[in-house]
Amino acid sequence: MPSVFVQGRPVASYPPLAPEARRGSVRRITEVGEEVLHKPCRDVTEFGPDLAALIDDMFLTMYVADGAGLAANQVGVDLRLFVYDCPDDDGVRHVGHIVNPVLDPLDPAGRRLLDEGEGCLSVPGAVMDVPRPDRAVVRGQDRDGRPLVIEGTGYFARCLAHETDHVNGQVYLDRLSRRERAQALRQVTDRRDEVFARRAANTEALSG
Ligand SMILES: [Zn+2]
Repeated sequence: MPSVFVQGRPVASYPPLAPEARRGSVRRITEVGEEVLHKPCRDVTEFGPDLAALIDDMFLTMYVADGAGLAANQVGVDLRLFVYDCPDDDGVRHVGHIVNPVLDPLDPAGRRLLDEGEGCLSVPGAVMDVPRPDRAVVRGQDRDGRPLVIEGTGYFARCLAHETDHVNGQVYLDRLSRRERAQALRQVTDRRDEVFARRAANTEALSG
């Protein structure tokens, strides 16, 4: 089994950071409560240098924040796309971007839910258990508009579902009970400063 998949395809070798990150700039990450995170994003209709530059910025911003995935509305851009660099439960690394992602509906009879820890760069410092299917298939396009299908299992399936939720205007807190949501927001209060200090240190290290 190859250990790295890029844009859904196996590659022989790959650098620790996606090459996009070297061309990108760090953007501010939006936080839960900001409107752009709580309404469905617009379809991408223009494929060109502006879209490619946005993807570059999103990769670097994701790495600086130690994230496994990042949607465009998490950098304040109201468009349907996300980037990821995420392991699955078999130790395979998955790296890429997808534009206009749509999650395949799963047959409820055949799906298995995993109730495991999940965090979000827009809910800094909180980790909560969220039930998610153990498999996900996302259909969309790449930055040049070519059709793209990405499949994932385990933690990577969780990432694909989480990021597709973002472009649909949902955050994972929306999948929790009121009590769990309050618990997550208390974790943010406790850990937010620490998370931002680490992001600042990473920004320094990665732009040095
Ligand atoms: Zn998120």
